[in-house]
Amino acid sequence: MVSSTLFAAFLPLLGFVLAQDGSITGPTSSAAAAGYSCDATKCKLPDCNCASTDPPGGLKPEDTPMFVVFTADDAVQSYTLDAVNQFLAQRKNPNGCQPKMTYYTSLNFTNYTLVTDWYVAGNEIADHTMTHVGTPPENEVSGNLVALNQLAGIPLKSIQGFRAPFLNYSVDTLKMLASLGFTYDSSSSASVPVTDDDTDAFWPYSLDYGMANDCLAVEGLCKGEPKLPGFWELPMYALFDNRGVDGPHLMDPWLDAANGETAVNDTATLEYLKSTFTAHYNGKRQPLGLYTHPIHVSRSVPGTTVTNSTINMINAFLDWAQEQPNTWIVSSIQLLEWVRNPVPISQLDSFAPLKCSTPSVDSSLKICNGIPQNENGLLAHCAFPDFPFYTCYGCPQEPPSPAQPAPPQATESGGQTRFRLAANCSTPFWDPIKGECICNSATCAFTDQSRPIGPNGANLTGDQVSSTGDGTDASATSNPYVPFNGNGAAPLASLPAGLWAATVVGVVGALAGAYGAVARF
Ligand SMILES: [Zn+2]
Repeated sequence: MVSSTLFAAFLPLLGFVLAQDGSITGPTSSAAAAGYSCDATKCKLPDCNCASTDPPGGLKPEDTPMFVVFTADDAVQSYTLDAVNQFLAQRKNPNGCQPKMTYYTSLNFTNYTLVTDWYVAGNEIADHTMTHVGTPPENEVSGNLVALNQLAGIPLKSIQGFRAPFLNYSVDTLKMLASLGFTYDSSSSASVPVTDDDTDAFWPYSLDYGMANDCLAVEGLCKGEPKLPGFWELPMYALFDNRGVDGPHLMDPWLDAANGETAVNDTATLEYLKSTFTAHYNGKRQPLGLYTHPIHVSRSVPGTTVTNSTINMINAFLDWAQEQPNTWIVSSIQLLEWVRNPVPISQLDSFAPLKCSTPSVDSSLKICNGIPQNENGLLAHCAFPDFPFYTCYGCPQEPPSPAQPAPPQATESGGQTRFRLAANCSTPFWDPIKGECICNSATCAFTDQSRPIGPNGANLTGDQVSSTGDGTDASATSNPYVPFNGNGAAPLASLPAGLWAATVVGVVGALAGAYGAVARF
């Protein structure tokens, strides 16, 4: 059973949970509500940073790059990656590398092999729960780690970030993330323009001294809580139309009517994307975010309603932003790496986290490794009726679920099972069919790190999740799975009645997201 105190703690928030859809209509914090104080003489980079509107490390704004964080949420499918690619694939950052982004991944309707490919191409894969539930129980969050490791070959240490479905999170969610070895959350809102005196547009900060965002929106947050040393918050920066603080836009702003009008107007949207960017750029260079649900800007999904005008407007904004000197399009983790080690503009070209990241694997090799030219013809097709998917790592007997995120592998007709990612090999160098690592040099050497997601509080690495011992045994997955600090998974029938409602809303939300309904999460 998941701790009943955890459930009890967020039941009072249920009314808020059900009302919240990830959009904001006004300030979610204030200086008084934040009650924030941080001792900058004790809180030092790289592991501690006070919530501040000033650039990190004492940099002057003119020495600070302008970051545009690009994120996507929900299931990963070919049409969602096509949607992202229409904005990023043709671009280059100032160092000549293609921009990378963060995909906050939920697993219903996700095609695992595309997650592998997206990760190996240098993008960040982050956690958005398994079945898309707000204020999630622990097995929704840790199960996402396990399933992405098992079926997409993402090393556990590479999944560092989390965004709550519907942006619904609680104090307990943040504590849980820290306990599961996450580095950051990005679910909160910066809801007051940078040009207002009481702006809450803080640079990413650690929670050593508690939260300073969403103090009016999430019960028990702020006034020094929760104190989570070394755990970071990346606020989501709202955009503001000509109503200023009364006209905020957060996710998928191109779906909103601007300036109090009743219909979407791409020209008006472009106007405030630019004006908000300019306010940040000419001020203290707080990052800007483009927080997308790719399904809403996909031109290949059945029933799509997005217009060419909207697609062209988003690209026009990015074209314009990239014309402003020292503007970089980045993933959440790239932004955080820079905040923790804030080198000035003059040194950015040699800053490792922003460098191009193409693994050097011989293109003639036949190896199922997340590189399309290598893995062609090697994918396993897992023909589950609700959401069939492909994977390099062998089909599970059943789709992963919070109760069993690592189902035993189904044996193929030839009798061969595949080897899941070893803890001492990185994804592009691991051959899951032969069960061997093709890395022979220091440049590709890799070791995953363990995380506290195992039975009875054990720290597990990826290959321990799927095996009983030697790390690469493909057939030894336990069933039933014994997950998560020995607490096991809560049988759904035993959930309190209120949680059923939250669960149902989450599932409906995931379905709506996957099929392009107008509601946004
Ligand atoms: Zn979502």
